[in-house]
Amino acid sequence: MWDVVGQERALLLLQRSLETGSLAHAYLFVGPAHVGKMTLARNLAQALNCEAAEPPCGKCDACQRIASAKHADVQVIDLESGNDAEEARVRTEISINQIRRLQHSASLAAFEGKYKAFIIDGAELLSIEAANCFLKTLEEPVGRVIFILLTINESLLPATVVSRCQRVELFPLASGEVEAALCSRWGVEPEKARLLARLCGGCLGWAVSAARDDGLLGQRAEWLDGLLEIASADNEQRFTYVAQLVDRFSQNRGLVHERLDLWLDWWRDLLLVKVGCGDAVTNVDRLATLGEMATGYSLAEIRAFVDCIKAAGKQIRLNANPQLALEVLMLSIPDAGKVRNPIV
Ligand SMILES: [Zn+2]
Repeated sequence: MWDVVGQERALLLLQRSLETGSLAHAYLFVGPAHVGKMTLARNLAQALNCEAAEPPCGKCDACQRIASAKHADVQVIDLESGNDAEEARVRTEISINQIRRLQHSASLAAFEGKYKAFIIDGAELLSIEAANCFLKTLEEPVGRVIFILLTINESLLPATVVSRCQRVELFPLASGEVEAALCSRWGVEPEKARLLARLCGGCLGWAVSAARDDGLLGQRAEWLDGLLEIASADNEQRFTYVAQLVDRFSQNRGLVHERLDLWLDWWRDLLLVKVGCGDAVTNVDRLATLGEMATGYSLAEIRAFVDCIKAAGKQIRLNANPQLALEVLMLSIPDAGKVRNPIV
């Protein structure tokens, strides 16, 4: 009764450890956003506290309380958690105070269950002081307490922390696996399931959120319309678009990267359509537009622009001036409809 979809290797490792009583006291779950790290962490906490013969049953009181985040012995520590709402609102790191509270709580006996589980979501966001403080806890394990660190980027964690955790990697699922799960477990209609499975890039959690909340697909449609407008706009309009994006960058860096990912998916789709692999595109609901647009560019032009989008993303991640990087990108958009030799 593990809820997590796919991830056979990770599941096998955890199940074996549970069966043989050889659990580590700290785990590091590594994988992209929405791939299932939190689901797996909650499942592990359930398996440790389940009252049934074959844990996790998903039905007993302990399993249900953990699933609904109400179990006193299973705590999630992230940017939003903690008892100071004002502090959480402005927080950009997991603070040393949060880790001190965790340590205090870990030192007390389990309140209602058998095991205490602390899930640190976004472990790469631990401040240096918090990570150093947490290291002491990792070095002196106590019985019946487990720490599960979740991260999208383990290279941002101190090596001393990583080396004291059992590493478990989660991988994006195949699009067919996501599609099947959306239909069978969440009752999503087949056409929508197919689209979401392509769009989520193997990260089921995003697809489930988008199936429940039409706002996510609505936003994507809006962003795609913007992208199409910009592709045929003049430089002045393109720079206005950049200015609007950069304006939001200061509040939400992720937003710019999400937008660049959308651009990358779109132009990769153009490449696929151009070489006759329309079946493999991400934006399956816009296949007609892709086909039309692809006729306006040569293969070499599309390829070159895909490289430009990747370069812009990399530069911004390396702290280049986002406005400059995006303006250069805008100037690199090839002119549509000037193809002399469409197969080159
Ligand atoms: Zn149970």
